[in-house]
Amino acid sequence: MPHGSGFDIPETMKAWVLGDPDELKPVEKSVPSPGTAEVLIRIDAVAICATDLEIISHGAPALIDGGPPFNKNFTPGHEFMGTIVQLGPTVDEYAVGDRVAVEIHAGCGRCRRCRMGMYTSCLNYGANFGDFSKGHRANGYTTDGAFTQYAVNHVNTLVRVPDAMSDEVATLIVTAGTATYGLDVLGGLVAGDSLVVTGAGPIGLLGVAVGKALGAEPVILTDIVDERLEIGVRLGADHVINAAREPAVEAVRRANGGHGVDFALECSGVPSALDDVIAMVNRGARICLAAFAHGPVKVDISQIVMNNTYLFGIRGEGKSAVRRAAALMAQQKFDATPVHTHTFPLSELPEALRHAREKLDGAIKVVIRNQDW
Ligand SMILES: [Zn+2]
Ligand SMILES: [Zn+2]
Repeated sequence: MPHGSGFDIPETMKAWVLGDPDELKPVEKSVPSPGTAEVLIRIDAVAICATDLEIISHGAPALIDGGPPFNKNFTPGHEFMGTIVQLGPTVDEYAVGDRVAVEIHAGCGRCRRCRMGMYTSCLNYGANFGDFSKGHRANGYTTDGAFTQYAVNHVNTLVRVPDAMSDEVATLIVTAGTATYGLDVLGGLVAGDSLVVTGAGPIGLLGVAVGKALGAEPVILTDIVDERLEIGVRLGADHVINAAREPAVEAVRRANGGHGVDFALECSGVPSALDDVIAMVNRGARICLAAFAHGPVKVDISQIVMNNTYLFGIRGEGKSAVRRAAALMAQQKFDATPVHTHTFPLSELPEALRHAREKLDGAIKVVIRNQDW
């Protein structure tokens, strides 16, 4: 029997489930119970991610029972935080009442990538259907996510939220973790080196913040929306460039004293972005791709070869990057607050999704609170 109490845990909870594409329905589900090394979390807040919009409309990259996630009683949502209300057997790492942010991926722990700390690239991703499971889970991708009131998670996916941090800002820890993973892949020790971030969405903005917190200089941000660039300045960007108004490649080089930059974090997913970034960096530089493009992209590969450019792709937030991001935020190395723009109650999820999809009145991170339902 799971132990620990103090919270009234109901038998059932309200949950949004995905029907046909773009159809979300409110239902009642049983509250799950935590197994060994797991805890039950009361979800307090969950942020909407561009990938949620992708999953709700097109299915991929979610994979339920080995196939598309439609009409499978599947609850999406993955960038969440909450309060631990019940401990499963053997859990002594956390206590009931602890506030935690939750990493999306729990790897299988037995494949070669998981053993390397690359659990977001688990070789058994999606191998959890029928009566077959290798233990891999990804909230809101291969298992039920967070557009509901309770979720069970493995202790390996949890990081503590400091008392002084709001629930809304705590949902950004995982997003900052993705930016941190990107900078880790680029080499980690970025202090004193120049960094360009292309695309001022949530990951790009937090890429600026984390890059600056780790000592990169100058940190240059490009986008085509002035309001987002202004938030980039608040998060620490030394230079911001509106690529709709001036040629971005020359502007980035000018901002770096006429030279190419050392590191690039590509967060826009714009088809021409990679060619631009290849021209923004210096010889021997490192580029990390952190955004999905919507189709195949044409790239001048000979520039990559001639200039000895290193090119990386990342998925999610591996190698404990979320723990590092949480540490930077707990130490107030940056304030992620400006990235959070809107809040809705869980009952108004469709309206919240519309704000995120259509970027209504400057929406960047739209956060759902588990209340009023
Ligand atoms: Zn996400
Ligand atoms: Zn694995």
